[in-house]
Amino acid sequence: STLKSKSNNSVLEYTDIDDISRGVERLRFAFHNKGKTHSIQYRLNQLRNAYFAVKDNVDQLCDALQKDFHRPPSETMTLEVSLGLAELIKIMANLHKWAQPSAVTDLTVSFKGTPIYVERIPLGVVLVISPYNYPFLLSFSAVVGAIAAGNAVVLKQSEATPHFSQLFSEILSGALDEDIFFAVNGAVPETTALLDQKFDKIMYTGNNTVGKIVAKKAAETLTPVILELGGKSPAFVLDDLNDSDIQTVAQRIAWGAFCNAGQTCVASDYVLVHSSKKQKLVDALKKVVEEKFYRNIDKNDVNFAHMIHSRAYDGVMSKIKSSKGKIITGGFGDAASRYIAPTVIDNVSWDDSTMQSEIFGPILPILEYSDLDSAIDEARRQHDTPLALYIFTGGAQSRKKNVEVDKIRAKIRSGGTIVNDVVMHVAITSAPFGGVGQSGNGSYHGFNSFKAFTHERTVMEQKFFNEFVLMSRYPPYKSKNDKL
Ligand code: NAD
Repeated sequence: STLKSKSNNSVLEYTDIDDISRGVERLRFAFHNKGKTHSIQYRLNQLRNAYFAVKDNVDQLCDALQKDFHRPPSETMTLEVSLGLAELIKIMANLHKWAQPSAVTDLTVSFKGTPIYVERIPLGVVLVISPYNYPFLLSFSAVVGAIAAGNAVVLKQSEATPHFSQLFSEILSGALDEDIFFAVNGAVPETTALLDQKFDKIMYTGNNTVGKIVAKKAAETLTPVILELGGKSPAFVLDDLNDSDIQTVAQRIAWGAFCNAGQTCVASDYVLVHSSKKQKLVDALKKVVEEKFYRNIDKNDVNFAHMIHSRAYDGVMSKIKSSKGKIITGGFGDAASRYIAPTVIDNVSWDDSTMQSEIFGPILPILEYSDLDSAIDEARRQHDTPLALYIFTGGAQSRKKNVEVDKIRAKIRSGGTIVNDVVMHVAITSAPFGGVGQSGNGSYHGFNSFKAFTHERTVMEQKFFNEFVLMSRYPPYKSKNDKL
């Protein structure tokens, strides 16, 4: 079709704009007129199909991401595929239980004898828009949650991972009933055409700018949205740490900053370290990067991803080039392959080029503090409500808990918080994952995904015999003291 936006490569087949409304209509018609998803067994069958379709294609999925941005296959396995499959197993094992109506028993006298319960009904046709950085997990986890809850799903993956998005749409379209699944591929025109359709919920994962576009568009039709956005997640390193633990702290922070070449929504974006521990931490980080994780690294290193596209490469390189800090390791890149060396920058101040917005690349700026209160105030003033908040303390290892940990937690609201580690909360399938404020709203994972795509409907089955109890509600009213 002439309306089709031009695919920036021959790998990803963009969906015809004309087909978008037809596809959404197909799902809507099936949802209302076939009603297949009312059956929990049907949903489980669909989920099982998705499980095996992924299982059978794990190597191809890893290869596709290696082609797209040099993503190490082991990162695709550990940070995406195994988490997504584990979550799906949890959902399948619990679906019958979660979908059960629950009785409401704590009732006042006017409701006694009336069956009242909360039933879990699907919302309808939902749209999932996912980003490039963890394209498997952030698509799969949302799609299976929505299907588990009985919805039909339209999935729009990122055009920035053409090999992956093409393959994964084919895999999911092959595994799932076309009455409940429709994959749309493309870029802005296709997404815009999608947002012109009416959905029953939209889940968007990606950057804040597009998040606002999605939220505005959804508001026109009063469509609820889940927004999973980014932010600048700090890692506080407190002064009560034992020197013997600094090496471990450095490893954890470096992993959070450099896995997927920093293109991680919950990356440890910057470090706020107490001045008494600064030098030791910087030395340890240099050692971790140069001697442990990325020895003799170059653009061909299979353990390290590259930037997704040249726009991202240029943006991250310009942050490095204009930084006024001291480069401890890295600091260079290769434009042709979009490789940027893992870069640690010391002596960074709040007005540095690396501190203006989410980095989303392999740079770790180190800021030093001596007064915790002003460090907290500044973190909150500059980058409020991050997606994650990391605090490293010696206190958690001993019985004397550091009150500073509570202070940081009380003053900085964040999507999630980890004491003495990074990123791992994403992998918990039985706790809500989501942002707050600038980092988004709504949460999902496991039961929370089921809940996010479910309407909890209160049902009351009133009797006739109790009319005498209800008489007082009818006019003519006797006095203002009459109660129901
Ligand atoms: P991206 O470039 O892949 O874009 C995300 C999606 O938005 C894509 O499907 C894209 O086609 C669509 N899109 C782009 N422009 C659009 C427009 N004008 N109108 C409608 N749709 C449009 O990825 P990205 O947004 O750069 O992803 C990185 C961001 O996502 C970072 O800020 C990161 O922190 C955040 N993120 C958040 C989470 C989370 O769980 N909270 C997870 C991963 C990434």
